[in-house]
Amino acid sequence: MTSQVDPQPTPLALLLLGRGADASSELGVECPGALPPASDPDLVERAERAKAALGDRVYILGHHYQRDEVIAFADVTGDSFKLAQQAAAHPEAEYIVFCGVHFMAESADILTGDAQAVILPDLAAGCSMADMAAIEQVEQCWRDLEAAGVADVTIPITYMNSTAAIKAFTGRHGGSICTSSNAKVSLEWAFARGEKVLFMPDQHLGRNTAVRDLGMSLDDCVVYNPRRPNGGLTVEQLRDARMILWLGHCSVHGRFTAECVDEVRERVPGVSVIVHPECSYEVVEKADFVGSTERIIAMIDAAPAGSKWAVGTELNLVKRLAVRHPDKEIVYLDRTVCFCSTMNRIDLPHLVWTLENLVAGTVINRIEVDADTQEWARIALDRMLSLTA
Ligand code: SF4
Repeated sequence: MTSQVDPQPTPLALLLLGRGADASSELGVECPGALPPASDPDLVERAERAKAALGDRVYILGHHYQRDEVIAFADVTGDSFKLAQQAAAHPEAEYIVFCGVHFMAESADILTGDAQAVILPDLAAGCSMADMAAIEQVEQCWRDLEAAGVADVTIPITYMNSTAAIKAFTGRHGGSICTSSNAKVSLEWAFARGEKVLFMPDQHLGRNTAVRDLGMSLDDCVVYNPRRPNGGLTVEQLRDARMILWLGHCSVHGRFTAECVDEVRERVPGVSVIVHPECSYEVVEKADFVGSTERIIAMIDAAPAGSKWAVGTELNLVKRLAVRHPDKEIVYLDRTVCFCSTMNRIDLPHLVWTLENLVAGTVINRIEVDADTQEWARIALDRMLSLTA
């Protein structure tokens, strides 16, 4: 007897493969195009030639989690906060090629002029965390807060890793965007204006910042689950909480566990453990240091030769740090490797395809945010840019 197998991939599988077509999702959309084959031995030369031909007309931003082959062509590298600043600081560039993920390119489009085109080399480069908060869910959450009588004392603080629609919601409701670099100062800003914060979409960054940096207790925090009525919370819980954390997380940083920290301390005696605040509270508590991507880089750059580091963040960055500092022992915090799969979708063939099209006068994969969303998201993003750590 032969088994019946449905040969059609599911819509979710297509999205994960970057061949789906849900344009409202960060998870992945179709990215058609006549890409050069990855085996083409001239890819580096082609990228160099196209970039040289475009000159100052193009400015390439490279997030730290990008592949080496892409970072090699970046005019600037950084975390999402630094790259947002850099996009805003280059009004002369006709084309901003954003080697990162979709929400970052949206933010760059909001912060740059109308005449500038922001391009994401692979439209399937989304962010699973950003996908954990849909605008309809956030609006329902706000209605729940209104019904509980606490909306007018709640300030939304939204992590950069979110869709433009949620950034606009944040601007409309008097809140600010934050990044891992300025989460503490953003919360301080919010608590000077309200009694509660609705923190979206990364529960870990919200909890870590509130408890470790602002001295709140874990009991001050509740988690709002958008799939349950009233977020799975009672009205009393909403009224008592100071931090209302959205049920969202990063699938990469969520892999690190407290056991990983114990294991690496045994495996590498004398190691210092440094992790990103998107890791869980338990992991951050066990680590020696916690910091944004930029802080992790700065600390390891400044560390003495011979020092040992276990780093809990995305693997491309950790590998690059290890290569850059052969005099230091730098290991990945987890034994199993984990790249950010969506960041990795941008590779050299996509970059060559993007740049060569621009040379030929064709703008592909432009990311454009509609005017109303732009206006309100910009208010929230401008607050973020003014709230430096
Ligand atoms: S590392 Fe996590 S938060 Fe960053 S883009 Fe990837 S899934 Fe999103």
